[in-house]
Amino acid sequence: MENLQVTEWVQHFIRQQVREGDLCIDATMGNGNDTLLLARLAGKSGHVLAFDIQEQALKNTEDRLAREGLEKSCTLFMESHEYMSRYAREGSVSCIVFNLGYLPGGSHGIATKAGTTVRAIKEGLKLLKKKGLLTLCIYSGGDSGFEEKETVLSFLKKLNPREFLVIQAEYINRPSHPPIPVLIIKI
Ligand code: SAM
Repeated sequence: MENLQVTEWVQHFIRQQVREGDLCIDATMGNGNDTLLLARLAGKSGHVLAFDIQEQALKNTEDRLAREGLEKSCTLFMESHEYMSRYAREGSVSCIVFNLGYLPGGSHGIATKAGTTVRAIKEGLKLLKKKGLLTLCIYSGGDSGFEEKETVLSFLKKLNPREFLVIQAEYINRPSHPPIPVLIIKI
């Protein structure tokens, strides 16, 4: 078994979920790791919509996709993820990925925030198709603080269990504030 860091943990399930031809969303594009994975999995007949509020993230992701010849498989938006439902129909998306926090290598001051993150998750849950998957990597402590983690988890705990299966995993022997991987499956 590989050393499963939080992003690899969720990517394991993303790989099980996404099929050739699927529509996917990367809600926090950053340096494009998840956008690239989704684009590879969805293939030429699929499509990825990716969001970030920082120009640097778009630039880094564009370069990344161009190196792999996958730029036509993705549409990149410099726009907050809370507006994702402008660009996809309800019930049409196979997989939505949130990797919260700040841009690795960028300013720690520009990061996801509790209010917009919860609004974006609500929109994402509408867009997911049945048996669709929404993944989250949640960070806390340090520059991330605790507000976003607490707000997001308390929102997720109240989701209707007839509509959504919500699974939170835990790194139980890691000190301080280990990241939290979450899967939400639309029933
Ligand atoms: N998945 C990325 C990757 O593969 O490199 C890493 C994402 S990084 C941890 C979080 C990103 O969320 C940052 O690039 C940040 O600019 C972005 N972000 C912050 N607020 C946002 C918002 N409201 N809408 C979309 N992206 C946002």
